[in-house]
Amino acid sequence: MKRQRKEQPDVVVAGAGFAGTVIARELAEAGKHVLLLEKREHIGGNMYDEKNADGILIHRYGPHIFHTNDAAVYEYVRRFGTWTPYYHQVRGKIGGKEVPIPFNFQAMEQLFPAEKVSRLQQKLRFLFRERKRVSVMELLECSEKEIAELGQFVYDFVFAGYTAKQWGVPVDQVDRSVINRVPVVLGYENGYFADVYQLMPQEGYTSIFETMLRHPRIQCCLGTDAQTRITLQENGTIWLDGTVFHGVFVYTGMPDELLHYRYGTLPYRSLDLQFETLQLESAQSVGVVNYPNSEAFTRITEFKKLTGQKKSGITTILREYPTAFARQEGQEAYYPIENPENRARYERYRTALATWNQLYLCGRLAEYRYYNMDGVVARALQVSQEILERKSLSNDSRTACLLT
Ligand code: FAD
Ligand code: UDP
Repeated sequence: MKRQRKEQPDVVVAGAGFAGTVIARELAEAGKHVLLLEKREHIGGNMYDEKNADGILIHRYGPHIFHTNDAAVYEYVRRFGTWTPYYHQVRGKIGGKEVPIPFNFQAMEQLFPAEKVSRLQQKLRFLFRERKRVSVMELLECSEKEIAELGQFVYDFVFAGYTAKQWGVPVDQVDRSVINRVPVVLGYENGYFADVYQLMPQEGYTSIFETMLRHPRIQCCLGTDAQTRITLQENGTIWLDGTVFHGVFVYTGMPDELLHYRYGTLPYRSLDLQFETLQLESAQSVGVVNYPNSEAFTRITEFKKLTGQKKSGITTILREYPTAFARQEGQEAYYPIENPENRARYERYRTALATWNQLYLCGRLAEYRYYNMDGVVARALQVSQEILERKSLSNDSRTACLLT
């Protein structure tokens, strides 16, 4: 039998989404050899964008707008392409009108009589002083009756229907941290996000990923489920292609898959995404319109308005129909479902996976956290640093293995 020497990579990363790609890039820049395995046929994870058959740039896995208050994250992403300032606005169909979301003073003026609006605004300014944003729960729980009624209105007409559709359970069963992602604005500011930096990549997200992964020490294999090459052995070792692996394994997929569902499946929410190209210059007033109280979908995105792409006479829209996530071909896990039971199950997986001290979990799926893109970048930079500080991963320790 012929024996052949072959070097192992220093690091294997499973998943070419933002988490895996930032880590691959950071470690490659620090001199490590990285093997990046991605089970889909493309890079970019859920941020992947592409031109559709009509030539319009769309986000295949739902609308993505980059926003952050973290200057370090902003500086980091700017290294990999040109980003254009983009002020994201959302409207919601409420009471037959199209009002700003987050609900603000303009929405009040559109929906309530003028004298009521001025009374509400005075009371809000008095009660919440300099604050520009409050949660709907703060309004609901307010001791001032008319403000609590306002909170109830916003809760019923902005949150209850949308949330029940999105999460498949009544709004009071959804973790408050989820609802509180969208505030009530005490003023006329009408942006969806309040962050200092709000951007879209000029050439699209996929182009940013291509730049990040263009590095001589990164080898990227698409269409490759990491489970076909990596095995976690019960004795705490990790094997790559049938040989003991001495490097670091970064995993950004679902943790229950790694342990073959030994503690049951971790629930996620999915979306049925319906794209449609219309023979129209413009389909709606802003990039995203929410439908909290009518329709089976939650929102419609018009991509031209997000990306700034010029294309006359046609426009592509996306309707999002929330669905349960079943582990079957063609379905994607989009959102972890935050509740104590799921958190406890996740913790069991995390504790069991600590057996493999070469293993790092990072990202929305692997950490079962409702991360935005900027949170993923910050976390991936932190994990990269932790990996580089490992003693066993010095530059000289690349392991030679024998393959037969
Ligand atoms: P993912 O993007 O899910 O990447 C994980 C990758 O790992 C995938 O490519 C997957 O195929 C791969 N993988 C999994 N298992 C394996 C395996 N066994 N082997 C190989 N590969 C594997 N954030 C914002 O900041 N702004 C927004 O506007 C925004 N909009 C969003 C809209 C929607 C509909 C959704 C679902 C999310 C949105 N997000 C938004 C969140 C954003 O998508 C995430 O924060 C970010 O993409 C997470 O990156 P990730 O690498 O953790 O996960
Ligand atoms: N939400 C709502 N009505 C809206 C917008 C949001 O009830 O018009 C709630 C809903 O529960 C949603 C959560 O706020 O899941 C977070 O909204 P966000 O826009 O952050 O969701 P994402 O873009 O991550 O899907």
